[in-house]
Amino acid sequence: MPNIQCSVCNNWKNSSELKSLSSSNYSWYHNYLSSNDKKFNINELFFCKGCKYTLYTIKKDLAAISISDPSSLYPESMEVEDANEGLTLDHVTFISSDYERCVVCPTLVSPEMVLMPKSARLDLLLLYRLFAARGVHCCRSHLLYGDRLRPDQHIDIENRLPMPTSLSTTQARELFNDLFSLIDTLKSSSHLDFDDPSLTNEDYEAWTGWTIEQFNLMFECISSHLRSSSNRTKRNCFAMFWIKLKTNLSFRQIGSLFNVPGDSESRRKRAADAFDSVRELLISHFVSKHLGIGHLTVDDAKTHNTAYTKVCSS
Ligand SMILES: [Zn+2]
Ligand SMILES: [Zn+2]
Repeated sequence: MPNIQCSVCNNWKNSSELKSLSSSNYSWYHNYLSSNDKKFNINELFFCKGCKYTLYTIKKDLAAISISDPSSLYPESMEVEDANEGLTLDHVTFISSDYERCVVCPTLVSPEMVLMPKSARLDLLLLYRLFAARGVHCCRSHLLYGDRLRPDQHIDIENRLPMPTSLSTTQARELFNDLFSLIDTLKSSSHLDFDDPSLTNEDYEAWTGWTIEQFNLMFECISSHLRSSSNRTKRNCFAMFWIKLKTNLSFRQIGSLFNVPGDSESRRKRAADAFDSVRELLISHFVSKHLGIGHLTVDDAKTHNTAYTKVCSS
């Protein structure tokens, strides 16, 4: 039976769901109650989990008043939580796992949404300083390759209420492990990375001579036949081929651009191998579909207004 009242929302709760507001850390709250002529017994002040946010908002409003009015009584330290509980991150806004909207846009959570994958949550933290707890949802359309946050995504940070990120020991441990594994990935990752969603059309054209769309079209024709390896992803392997043709950098140079492991001779060899396998696959799976009369049916050809069409249909 719930037997203690939350002094913020006045609901009755079990003691396990409540935290005490009696300590002097909360004197700002005691002052707030007195200044609103509320009677209270300091030893019977509690707040429930659901009211943490309300408390934070009250505290923020008070802080704003005390800045504009130096004579106000509120002390500088206005803790919402006891200081030695968990770990609080500065300037990182928290989104709890029961947040009822998409993390990125204001759409309400629906069955079409997905659980936001870990790598996309790390993107949110690193790019926007938003800490989304495990279990938050987002629309599929905000994700690139299914697990990264789209780089062109606009996220409205200004209008979000800043909710401090206070991590439990478990959450803090998870976050550290995630960050360490991210750092490990970065150490061995390519300097130039065509899996990186922030590369622009101009980048693609400068390095490969193709737009992203053209690059993808050719890549899709051969990607299922391409072997991926621990040294390089399929996409980077495909990019190496076009970079060689477009820039005529040496294979040794291309190997170091993609941070291929090993000494410079093995880098050179791996880049050259990548080039050869892409060349063979393009010949057998792409060129044959787009070169010569054989790639069109007569009807396809008639829809093309070319000299060839005229010969064919006459
Ligand atoms: Zn409450
Ligand atoms: Zn959304």
